[in-house]
Amino acid sequence: PDVVVAVDGPAAAGKTTTCVALADRFRLGYLESGRTYRVIAFEALRRGVPTGDRENLVALCDELLHESRDQDLLTSERYQAADLRSPSVNVAVSDVARVDELRKRVTQLVRLWAQRQVRCIIEGRDIGTVVFPSASIKFYLTASPEVRALRRLEQERRGSYEDVLKDVIRRDRADMSRTVSPLVPADDAITIDTTELTLNEVLGQMSSVCER
Ligand code: C5P
Repeated sequence: PDVVVAVDGPAAAGKTTTCVALADRFRLGYLESGRTYRVIAFEALRRGVPTGDRENLVALCDELLHESRDQDLLTSERYQAADLRSPSVNVAVSDVARVDELRKRVTQLVRLWAQRQVRCIIEGRDIGTVVFPSASIKFYLTASPEVRALRRLEQERRGSYEDVLKDVIRRDRADMSRTVSPLVPADDAITIDTTELTLNEVLGQMSSVCER
């Protein structure tokens, strides 16, 4: 692709909301890479594959790739957002994201998808560091865990503040401490701490970078 915008950052930092808005404004293809990790976690739970069982997780992923056309696994409309965002998937997905063999497959899928785009914006945890180290623009969105939990709660209206906060902190830890592709800002990423910013302010900052 001519242009790749990478948007990484911890859970519930506003990546999806800002990516969708920027994709619309600048006519970029948009991909949520976390969705693929979630589909694998969801299918593992549904088919009774223990998420600590790396070998069988990889076998499951290969089966899914075989069953669907590659694209389906990334963007499949078969899956309801509510199913992919359930508390049990939120826990299982951290196990999935730890498995190097799975990360390699997802990375490959994302790159294949991008090959068919002219200009795109991709959100995840490792887009600017691993998947597209040569991305044209890299953002690292972050905010305090408390603010992220509050925003997530307002958006999804599921669970208590305490539970959402716990899950955000747990997933951050899992993403930052794993040995393969841990969550870190790329050296050349523009970090935006959105704790004290409104959505429009964040979009304003990101847009002014994209306009350059
Ligand atoms: O972005 P989202 O929260 O939906 O991602 C779900 C999970 O997938 C994250 O908690 C993270 O562990 C994993 N993930 C990842 N690398 C990506 C995208 C998501 O490890 N590029």
